[in-house]
Amino acid sequence: MPLTVVDHPLAADLLTRLRDKRTGPAEFRSLTRRLGAILVVEATRSLAVTPSEVETPLEPFTGSALAVDLVAIPVLRAGLGLLDAVTDLYPDTMVGYLGMERDEETHEPRDYYAKLPPLAGRHALLLDPMLATGGSGSAAATYVQAAQPLGLTFVCVVAAPEGVERMEADHPGVPIVAGALDRQLNEHAYIVPGLGDFGDRLYGTV
Ligand code: URA
Repeated sequence: MPLTVVDHPLAADLLTRLRDKRTGPAEFRSLTRRLGAILVVEATRSLAVTPSEVETPLEPFTGSALAVDLVAIPVLRAGLGLLDAVTDLYPDTMVGYLGMERDEETHEPRDYYAKLPPLAGRHALLLDPMLATGGSGSAAATYVQAAQPLGLTFVCVVAAPEGVERMEADHPGVPIVAGALDRQLNEHAYIVPGLGDFGDRLYGTV
């Protein structure tokens, strides 16, 4: 399934400011919310709609109504930064939480918390800002897929080629929407050029 890298001047501006090491947590959260809105619009481009009849002040009009419920699933804790972007645009979205953490020694994912609403018949948006090795992203997608959502889209701010490759191998049917595809991972499995540790920058925990 294709990787979509959002190509928009506003997204590029917002992401550049997120990358800037001088950007503090308050601004980082605000920029993430704004960039997240662009990513979420792209990630929900293919949602089903049904015809919806309304009366304009002038005549009847057949428009569209969304025909599928969304479930936003932030991967704790960095994914929380993208949650407001979903609920701003889709206030009726349900929210589930998935706690995955990266073992700093092995770089392998460990799940430590999961609370999901029923996903059958609903479209899930998995929110995980940094698709690095793809280990936790893939493990999170496996967890969500087990609940059989109607569809699943992975939303990230920055992706590394290694993470995209891993997701495409493990979850070929899951579209990925990213703000950027960066060069590579470094020896500590951080994305370069990247923006550092997303969770730390979001919450000021350096
Ligand atoms: N997680 C982050 O927060 N940043 C990276 O560069 C890689 C994983």
